[in-house]
Amino acid sequence: MSRSVPAACVIGWPVEHSRSPLIHNYWLKACRVAGEYRREAVAPDRFRDFLQSLAARGYAGANLIFPHKEAALAFSQPDDRARAVGAANTLWLEDGELRATNTDVGGFLDNLDACVPGWDRDCETALVLGAGGAARAVVHGLLERGTPRIVVINRTSRRAQALQEWFGARVRVAAWEERNQWLGGARLLVNATKLGMPGESELAIDIARLPADAVVADLVYLPLVTPLLRAATARDLRIADGLGMLLRQAAPQFQLWFGKKPEITRELRSLLEQDLARAQPPAQQ
Ligand code: NAP
Repeated sequence: MSRSVPAACVIGWPVEHSRSPLIHNYWLKACRVAGEYRREAVAPDRFRDFLQSLAARGYAGANLIFPHKEAALAFSQPDDRARAVGAANTLWLEDGELRATNTDVGGFLDNLDACVPGWDRDCETALVLGAGGAARAVVHGLLERGTPRIVVINRTSRRAQALQEWFGARVRVAAWEERNQWLGGARLLVNATKLGMPGESELAIDIARLPADAVVADLVYLPLVTPLLRAATARDLRIADGLGMLLRQAAPQFQLWFGKKPEITRELRSLLEQDLARAQPPAQQ
C-alpha cells in the first residue's frame, strides 16, 4: 500500500455496493490530486481496531456507511452536527485526533432543494421510514428546516422510539404495520431503510394513498430508479433520488480529506448512472 499520497476510504459491512470510490477517484483525477480512495470491508467487531489503525494504514480520513455511523461517535471527537444527529458519516485525522462530522444532513437537504424547490413550504407532516444512521440525518435535517411533524416508522420499534427520545416532541413513532395508514396525511415520504437495495426485499407500501402534491425521496441509489421511485413517478409525484444525495454528501468530504473543492458535473452523474445501470438486475431495467 502506498503511503506517500493522501488516501481515504469507505468503511462498511458490506461495502461492495458503495459507489463512493467512483466519485472520489473521479474528483482526484479532475482536481489533479495524487491521492487514493478505496473500499474497506470492516465487520462491527473489528471497527474500533480499524479506526485506531487508520493513520498506520495511510488514511487521512474515511467515509462511514452502515452499520458504523452511530458507533463511530464513541471512537472519535464528533463536531456539533454529528453530536446533534447522533451519527457520523465522515472521519478525518487532525492533529493526531480522529474527528467526525455528518455530511448526510446537507446532502439530503441540498438534493431535495435541487430536485423539488420549495418542498418544505407546506410540509406539515413528513414520514420517515427507517431509524438507522441515515434516518437520523434525515430527521435532523427536517427539524432544521422547521417540519412541524415527523413520523418515524421502523421495523424495530425500539429503534424508532430511540429517535423520538433523542429528537423530541416534533417526532412521533408509528408501527411498521401501520405505515400505509399514515400516507394520506403526508407531504413528504422518505425511505431511509435498506429496502429496495440488491439482496433486500422491495419496500411494500401503497403510495396510491399519498396526496397528489406529495414528494417521495429514496436514499437507496442502487438501483438508481428504485421500485418506490418508479411507482411515485408513475403517479406523477415529485421525487428526489439517492444518487443526488450521494453526490452532495460526498463533495464536502472530498474537500476535507484532499483540500480541493470538487464539482458535481453532468459527466460524473452520467458515469454513475451508467455504472448503476450495468449493476441493475435485468428484471428491473
Ligand atoms: P442502518 O443504520 O444499518 O439502518 C438500516 C435501516 O434499514 C434500519 O432502519 C433497518 O430497520 C432498516 N431495514 C433493514 N432491513 C429491513 C427490512 N427487511 N425490513 C424493514 N426495514 C429494514 O443503515 P443506514 O446507514 O441508515 O442506511 C440506510 C439506507 O440509506 C441504505 O440503503 C443506504 O445505502 C442509504 N443511504 C444512502 C445515502 C445517500 O447518500 N444516498 C446516504 C446514507 C444512507 P431495523 O432497525 O428494524 O433493522
